[in-house]
Amino acid sequence: MSKIKVLSVFGTRPEAIKMCPLVKVLEKDDRIESIVCATAQHREMLDTVLDIFDVKPQYDLNVMSHGQTIVDVSNKVLTGVDKVIKECNPDIVLVHGDTSTTLNGALAAFYNQKPIGHVEAGLRTGDIYSPFPEEANRKLTGAIATLHFSATESNKANLEKENIHKNIYITGNTVIDALLSVVDKNHKFDDKNLNHIDFENNKIVLLTAHRRENWGEPMKDIFAAVRELVTKNEDVNVIFPMHKNPLIRELANESFKGVEDKIYLIEPLEYVDFANLMAKCYLIMTDSGGIQEEAPALGKPVIVLRTETERPEAVEAGTVKLAGIKKEDIFNIADELINDEEAYNKMAHAVNPYGDGKACPRIVEHIVEYFKNK
Ligand code: UDP
Repeated sequence: MSKIKVLSVFGTRPEAIKMCPLVKVLEKDDRIESIVCATAQHREMLDTVLDIFDVKPQYDLNVMSHGQTIVDVSNKVLTGVDKVIKECNPDIVLVHGDTSTTLNGALAAFYNQKPIGHVEAGLRTGDIYSPFPEEANRKLTGAIATLHFSATESNKANLEKENIHKNIYITGNTVIDALLSVVDKNHKFDDKNLNHIDFENNKIVLLTAHRRENWGEPMKDIFAAVRELVTKNEDVNVIFPMHKNPLIRELANESFKGVEDKIYLIEPLEYVDFANLMAKCYLIMTDSGGIQEEAPALGKPVIVLRTETERPEAVEAGTVKLAGIKKEDIFNIADELINDEEAYNKMAHAVNPYGDGKACPRIVEHIVEYFKNK
């Protein structure tokens, strides 16, 4: 039997974190020829992840440029991936999640009549404008995908509600595969300042905030709540690896004036440092999606700085609390977790709903099985 040619397309940091462990399993499997196309929708943040996992894309579209719109990115990804597909003629194209790379990579495959495997299929908030444009990206990708790799039962149920019934596989989330491969209790941080932090005697809160829906007023409220938290609680320090977006950086610098000794504004961390910082910190406050899946696997409570989440299983399991974007609500929830040990332990010991770290080999078996039965 000839090898199955699998083209994996991804371009942002979170996609790379979740696809690289899968690429490694594909590369090792002698039933498969693995080809990678990086769109580089993020550049620097993507490259550090590729280095960590030692993944060398055969194609790099390098689409990132300053100030470009969603439409600009979409155009470049669609035409770029179309060319790659015509050149390498894969048997299947894998995309991940819900970015502009996902949707346009999938569209390029669809127009070339190639089957699409959608990794992390079936996440939904039910609001087409939130998160924007991700909810639409994942819905539209789901509508044209052939194989759907869902992390959980409830992701599968979301697809079924949209009348998608064939070839849905529950695999767990590949992010857990990635995480378990890099977290090490003896880790020494590349960012030397982090090695001097006293994680034992202080309560270290890890903050991330970057979502488009939170730009402006919501972000001001989030930062005001964090400021109040460190002002009221002497033993709390915050580490904020800031996203590259200049709007967020400016606002953070302004909002945290005078409390710089309690709130460390640092550059985005490379993934291994970030994962190990999650493992060492006390609590995480974030508007990120992926972190809501990773933190429970490390037993860390997460306060979600959003009004909705496409990860309800984490809320149900009790590992994640949806705080919304109002200053008082965010402060109250964080303050309780800082000062009420029982409330903290309840969250820290809840069970991780996102898998056992074996999602990637499962996905590969389903792909092989699909081509056997074709
Ligand atoms: N992450 C990282 N360094 C950072 C912040 C986040 O490596 O400074 C990782 C994090 O572990 C997670 C992913 O980036 O796997 C989340 O990315 P992001 O919040 O940008 O996107 P989302 O998950 O919301 O799509």
